[in-house]
Amino acid sequence: MVDVTSDDAVQPADSPSVRVGVDASPDPRPGADRSAEGDRAAAPAWSGGTLIPGSGVADLTDRDALMGLALAEARAALATQDVPVGAIVLDAVGRVIGRGRNRREADGDPTAHAELLAVREAAATLGQWRLEGCTLVVTLEPCAMCAGALVLARLPTLVIGASDPKAGACGSVLNVVQEPRLNHRVDVETGVRAQECGEELRAFFRARRRGGASA
Ligand SMILES: [Zn+2]
Repeated sequence: MVDVTSDDAVQPADSPSVRVGVDASPDPRPGADRSAEGDRAAAPAWSGGTLIPGSGVADLTDRDALMGLALAEARAALATQDVPVGAIVLDAVGRVIGRGRNRREADGDPTAHAELLAVREAAATLGQWRLEGCTLVVTLEPCAMCAGALVLARLPTLVIGASDPKAGACGSVLNVVQEPRLNHRVDVETGVRAQECGEELRAFFRARRRGGASA
C-alpha cells in the first residue's frame, strides 16, 4: 500500500485522503484476471447499454470493467463541483439497477453520497429494500453512514476502488460492513483500479487548491 497523503500536505481538512494499493490482492474469482487486462484508460461509457454486446448484462467477474462504470459516475460529479465519487449496483445476473454519484454540493445534502443514492435507486428498481444477490461497486471506500446502509440493505458483495484511511468504514478506520456483532456481513474486495480512483480525487483537490476551477 502506498500512502499518497504524504505529498498532499495542503489538502483541505475535509477531503478524503486516499491510500491506493496497486494489485492489492489477486481476485480469487474465476475469470477475473486483472493483470492481463492492464490499465483500461477509458471508462466504458454507460448509457443504459451493455458491457457484453447483446446480453443485456455486465460480466460480474470483470471487476475492472465494473469499476469503469463507477468511475464514469465519479467523473460526472465534477459537473457540480462535487468530490468525484461514483457507485453502481448490479443485480445477481449483472444488470445495473442503481447508479449514484456524490451530490453533496449539488443538493446541499450531507447525506447525498454516491453509495446511498445508488442503493436507493437499486431498491426502487427491485421494489424491495433487501438487495439480495447484489453487488455494489464504488470508487472510494464507503464512510460509516454508507457502510451502515449497506448492512441495512443486506448487501452481499462490495467492490472498492481506493481506500480512505481518514474516513473509510470498510476496514480502514472502522469495519462496519464486517462487524461480527451486527446481523449481516458484506464480502469486500478492495483495490480495484485503485490508482485511477485515487487519481480522480487527487486531481480534484489539486484543482480546487489552485483556485476552485473544476477539473
Ligand atoms: Zn458515504
